Amino acid sequence: MLTKEKLDKMKCSIPGCKCDSRDGFFFHGRCHQSDRVTAFYDNEMLEVACAECGRPIADVKVTDYKGFGFLKGKCHDSTVKVFYVNGTLSIMCAKCNNPIATIAVAQ
Ligand SMILES: [Zn+2]
Ligand SMILES: [Zn+2]
Ligand SMILES: [Zn+2]
Repeated sequence: MLTKEKLDKMKCSIPGCKCDSRDGFFFHGRCHQSDRVTAFYDNEMLEVACAECGRPIADVKVTDYKGFGFLKGKCHDSTVKVFYVNGTLSIMCAKCNNPIATIAVAQ
């Protein structure tokens, strides 16, 4: 389970990817090396998985989020991108980058 302390030490896991050249990084599958993922929320845990094959990528402990199930915008399906920076996860639609949710990570 990942917390802010652990995520602050992490970087993008894909060799050569430029997504962590800013302050934060996108969650990727190693299986498909895509930033298209799904994000499922249940009981203070956000489960990020590869949108192509469903393989788990990360379980992040979060706080103060009211919701249940797959995070998705009203625009498209539940394929999203998850960006981490400084204690906050930003969930956006993978197709049009519409912001869907901003969720605080537990310490
Ligand atoms: Zn990356
Ligand atoms: Zn995959
Ligand atoms: Zn969209």
